[in-house]
Amino acid sequence: MPALEEKQLLLIPGPTPVPQAVLRACARPMINHRGPEYAKLQNENVAGLKEMFQTKNGVLVLTCSGTGGMEAAVVNTLSPGDKVLVLVIGAFGKRFLKIARAYGADAEEMEFTWGEAVDPNRVKERLAQDKNKEIKAVLVQHNETSTGVYNDLSVLGPIIREHGALSLVDAVSGLIAIDCQTDNWGLDVVVAASQKAFMLPPGLAFVCMNERAWEAYKKAKMPRFYFDLGEARSFAEKGQNPWTPALPQVYGLQEGLRLLRQEGLQNVFARHQRLADAVRAGCKALGLELFAKPANASNCITAIKSPAGLGPDKIRKLLLEKYGLVLAGGQAHLKDSVFRVGHLGYVSETDILGCMAALGAGLKELGMKVDPGAGAGAAVASLEGAKC
Ligand code: PLP
Repeated sequence: MPALEEKQLLLIPGPTPVPQAVLRACARPMINHRGPEYAKLQNENVAGLKEMFQTKNGVLVLTCSGTGGMEAAVVNTLSPGDKVLVLVIGAFGKRFLKIARAYGADAEEMEFTWGEAVDPNRVKERLAQDKNKEIKAVLVQHNETSTGVYNDLSVLGPIIREHGALSLVDAVSGLIAIDCQTDNWGLDVVVAASQKAFMLPPGLAFVCMNERAWEAYKKAKMPRFYFDLGEARSFAEKGQNPWTPALPQVYGLQEGLRLLRQEGLQNVFARHQRLADAVRAGCKALGLELFAKPANASNCITAIKSPAGLGPDKIRKLLLEKYGLVLAGGQAHLKDSVFRVGHLGYVSETDILGCMAALGAGLKELGMKVDPGAGAGAAVASLEGAKC
């Protein structure tokens, strides 16, 4: 069945599936990136991104993956030796820590139990101890993809602002799947990326900085060149990028933003909520235990504990080979105990039902005593309930 070999249901936390209209847009002919046509395209994209970031400030589009955006956030606001507080609830918190340290920041790690969100009280206490205002920035995830947990930035943002440190937010997997009110919550730098809820191919990072962050930029001494956001900002004023932009992705972004604006941001959040609820209901009905504490369970991704005696790799292998269902493995020390279902971006209710049916069938085939249709049934009930 050569034709079917290509057909997969991709439910990982990025790259996520891409709509046909976006793929077609990506295939448009190249244009001069220093000409008026490109300037119009870039300006339109920035206007759309501002809506998605819920900000009045500009959003810069960088040619790189999300990690490049995180690096840009660090090197454009800090100097070597600056003290920063890094809030860690999973593997991407560790990554932010490594980036800060790689550039010489004096980074203090505040780690929380994986599977739980940042405890705002601990952050508040730590910042209150910092009487001399030595902490220049607090680094935090909006959504921690490795554990499937989101942080409540409506609470953390104002706590950090009260202290005066900058907030550097990795919203790579969370933005537009989960509410993130950049301006209202006082978030100074927010980073997102194309291959997540934006339902675009990988290759672009988006960085939003407010005036406080631009003030910090003037003093920041960490080395930078490709990711010098001052350069990016001055070129953006004329509708350009300092370097050659990834035109296919930029075209895709225009189409993706058109689709998202048509749907409406609140509906995009509601869609992610609906699918996440269905996945959680389905997993529970299959007797699976979820890794994240319910209070902060993510609407982007669900991390599932592998049933006793069944490694996640075994489950994922069978689902891939027999059903063409692609799920993600666990990260860091969760590698052998957790697998993850991505439900962000261009994912439909039918995709979720298919996933739950295949998962149920797969678990049964692997010897688990389970009603294979229970997950799909519970997901249907959850989706029906959501529509009432
Ligand atoms: N931060 C979070 C929360 C992520 O989920 C990811 C990617 O999965 C990244 C950062 C890194 O992004 P990239 O792989 O695009 O560099």
